[in-house]
Amino acid sequence: MSRNKFVAGNWKMFTTTATARELASAVVRGLGTDDRITVAVCPPFPYLLPVAEVLRGSRILLGAQNMYPAREGAFTGEVSPSMLLDVGCRCVIVGHSERRHVLSESDDIIHAKVEVGISAGLRVILCVGETLIQRERGETEAVLDGQLMSALAGVAPDALEQITIAYEPVWAIGTGRNASPEQAEQAHAFLRGRIAKLYGEKVAQEVLIQYGGSVKSDNAASLMAQPDVDGALVGGASLKADQFLAIAAAGAAAGRPA
Ligand code: PEP
Repeated sequence: MSRNKFVAGNWKMFTTTATARELASAVVRGLGTDDRITVAVCPPFPYLLPVAEVLRGSRILLGAQNMYPAREGAFTGEVSPSMLLDVGCRCVIVGHSERRHVLSESDDIIHAKVEVGISAGLRVILCVGETLIQRERGETEAVLDGQLMSALAGVAPDALEQITIAYEPVWAIGTGRNASPEQAEQAHAFLRGRIAKLYGEKVAQEVLIQYGGSVKSDNAASLMAQPDVDGALVGGASLKADQFLAIAAAGAAAGRPA
């Protein structure tokens, strides 16, 4: 089974209008036509529209870093999936560890975001991952299982086409300490196995599972060479066009044969 690699850049709370445009332009210019790789960039909300303009006509997908799980309403400060679609977003990150751990998002709200995001027609990048203490206690699989099962509760098998899972060990995010390719593969194979149990082998073989956590141009190839690592969710290195393009190129090279 060959799955195309999917590399997404999470710009977090960085950039300005000017630097967001410059970064997006550099990615558009630098990304070749290799269709073995799918690429997305996820700027902060205020820069979605300016970046959408830059991406127009390119094959780079626009993504958001978050959304609120309702179509519209009295939710001060929040952004709905229909608003994201309206400004050109095709995907949205849900359950990022910074939202789980810094902003105290619960499994229930993450589950609601998954359901509402997919029913709105967005591709949902669902992040799961254990903390260092949980890993040291041998709880990694239990944590991944709990986060995955809770997020996907009641989600129909055909909706899995719209979901990309991102395995992001919390201890590797923004720390410069990536999971080893073997650690990543072990977690990814576990997650795919859980999807197989829940949805069957065909769905499990098709679902994309990205790795995220200190992915850089020098470790991307070995991570994405793992059979169950289908791409990368990139934070810090996605803010530098040359780094991000090198990671995307590593993904294309590690993907199905040209
Ligand atoms: C992330 O924000 O999802 C991430 C993986 O960050 P970094 O690449 O900086 O570790």
